[in-house]
Amino acid sequence: MSDMLDELYRDVIMDHYRNPRGKKKLDKSDIHSEGKNPSCGDELEMDLQIKDGIIEDVHVGCVGCAISVSSGSMLAEVIKGKSIDEVKKIAEVVKKMLKGEPIPDDIEIEMGDLDALEGVKKFPVRIKCALLSWTTLIDSIDTVADNKERAFSTTE
Ligand code: ZN
Repeated sequence: MSDMLDELYRDVIMDHYRNPRGKKKLDKSDIHSEGKNPSCGDELEMDLQIKDGIIEDVHVGCVGCAISVSSGSMLAEVIKGKSIDEVKKIAEVVKKMLKGEPIPDDIEIEMGDLDALEGVKKFPVRIKCALLSWTTLIDSIDTVADNKERAFSTTE
């Protein structure tokens, strides 16, 4: 049974790796951020369009291993249309899941394909790969909250 699950999850991960969601660059970016995972060589750039506290659109460009790319793709799929508060909750749950910590019962969120990443907790070196997009996201949201202004704005 668990072998079957692993296979299913591998297919989900590989699908995101081959066709990353959020790959398309945005015309306008409210927050631009970059992240690196030196232990694996994964590099990531992220652009967010935020309006009234809602993530309206997201671009994730990740060059790296299958885990980092697919995690960034799942992030792009899941956070679009969500409020910043919801996104923070999702990031918290993803972090706990990857570290093998219990997830509080009172948190109800849509995980989408993110469940497929749970197996990563068995491979401690890959946890950083799976977390790269999430830490980049949270850092960029927090930066904006701290400054009470947009960290970066660009038009292409
Ligand atoms: Zn990696």
